[in-house]
Amino acid sequence: MSPKIKSVDLLHEDASTNGERIPVAPSISVSTTFRFDPKMLSLDDVNVRNPTRHIYSRYTQENSTRAEHILGKILSLLRHLVKDGYAVTYASGLAACFAALVFYKPRRIAIRGGYWGCHNTIEIYKKCRDTNVEVIDFDDEFKPGDLCWVETPVNPTGESRDIRYYADKVGLKNPSNLPWADLISQIHQVGGKLVVDSTFAPPPLQSPFKLGADCILHSATKYLGGHSDLLAGVLVVKTEAEWFELHNNRTYTGTMIGSLESWLLLRSLRTLDLRVLKQSATATKLVQWLNNVASATATGSSFDGVPAGVLKKVCHSSLQGTDSRGFNPSQQMEGGWNATFSILLSTPEYAKELPYLAKYFIPATSLGGVESLMEYRARADPNEDPTLVRISIGLEDFEKFHRI
Ligand code: PLP
Repeated sequence: MSPKIKSVDLLHEDASTNGERIPVAPSISVSTTFRFDPKMLSLDDVNVRNPTRHIYSRYTQENSTRAEHILGKILSLLRHLVKDGYAVTYASGLAACFAALVFYKPRRIAIRGGYWGCHNTIEIYKKCRDTNVEVIDFDDEFKPGDLCWVETPVNPTGESRDIRYYADKVGLKNPSNLPWADLISQIHQVGGKLVVDSTFAPPPLQSPFKLGADCILHSATKYLGGHSDLLAGVLVVKTEAEWFELHNNRTYTGTMIGSLESWLLLRSLRTLDLRVLKQSATATKLVQWLNNVASATATGSSFDGVPAGVLKKVCHSSLQGTDSRGFNPSQQMEGGWNATFSILLSTPEYAKELPYLAKYFIPATSLGGVESLMEYRARADPNEDPTLVRISIGLEDFEKFHRI
């Protein structure tokens, strides 16, 4: 059964934090400080999860609280269990990445590839620890206490990794058959944790909790924000106790989302399902067409206006098929395929030039916004294949740009 986000959750899940909602759209408030309630004797009297009144915007403010209530709901879909997650917003995806590392305090981090910036964040985390922190490959043997970090679909190729496999490997067996409380206690017994960076697969595309993740990370700068106008990150955990610890850490590291950004994020969440489903459908069609071009032109003839000898390969979850362990990404990407993927061209020169030639693609970094973007990826990450171009599909109609 495919996971669904409900439009009513995107539109109304924050209503409880906003009384009668007299202004229909959220108001922009950039105040850092708020008039004290004379009845409040100590900061401990404030319920930071559901504040009725704010004190100082490093603790809480209206729009980030509202956005967190929606994110907790939509990012925690499970097949059998109706249970909201607990979301904490941050100033950026990498601020969320650092917060997850500080929260789990791993001595070993199992990771492979993915967004290069996360590896630099891990290097900074390593500098903060007085013991040696080891970075291992996620196919190395795990030990109790390891943190497994799975980015899926992975940046930049847009190919999927098997969340359930790594959840089982880090210690959790067959999560879909267990009630929620058992999930938590089993993971604690083993001591391993799984963080899934699901930035490339926002709801409703995949549900990492359903497959055994302990914590979901998103760069909300991408699809959740969706308009290339805000930087934000989010972590979603399964218990209120974890939420309070993350919130406390955020308050005293000062990594909260900005007030204006939280307003932009809340505005964007209202249309998340419409945007993501259209981006996913258009990307899937474009990937099919590009893949046909790659196969047909490999034989030396041109196809659909594209000359032979230009496009070498298309990388996308939908083209992966079943791997040697039996994983097929279609089991995981239940709500649709990802809308960011990569193509490999026959020479680095073609890869450098292409982003400037395509009419409706903007040559720029990032992904997930309403405008389609194309990036020669080795510019950002010198270790990347110099023939790789990453493509983020926006809301333009397929017919307008499938002939790039
Ligand atoms: N995770 C992934 C998969 C990303 O692609 C990015 C940014 O591109 C990040 C995390 C970091 O997000 P931010 O740029 O919001 O810090």
